[in-house]
Amino acid sequence: MVPQPGDQEAIVVPDSTPDSTDERRDLLLLCTEPKRLARADRDARRVQLQVQESDLYIAAVSAYNVVIDLRARRVQHGCRDFLAQAREGKLCKHVAALLLAMEPAVALGILRQLTDPDGGWHLEVIAARGFGRTG
Ligand SMILES: [Zn+2]
Repeated sequence: MVPQPGDQEAIVVPDSTPDSTDERRDLLLLCTEPKRLARADRDARRVQLQVQESDLYIAAVSAYNVVIDLRARRVQHGCRDFLAQAREGKLCKHVAALLLAMEPAVALGILRQLTDPDGGWHLEVIAARGFGRTG
């Protein structure tokens, strides 16, 4: 018995599109969860870049500031989620949103270093707002 080629064979098309492969997303998923990344996607459209230099990015992301200092290899941000995430070397949706909003090549470079244990980056929690309040 010789099997007939193509007989009753369903061609399964994998649900992936190689052309749209985005290494940024792969790396972001190492720094955050899919749910957060989905929220970051929505916030990315509302990112307001205030400073955009070759080695310094400051942006407002839904009322929070995010500072990415490439020279110092430092991310500064202060939402409550970041407070918890940063301890584990992970990112909140605001930082992820900025990385999605900025120049892809620059974001990719940052993410490669961020996800590298020897990348030398640190996540610094700063006061998000309420400066000068004494309680
Ligand atoms: Zn945040």
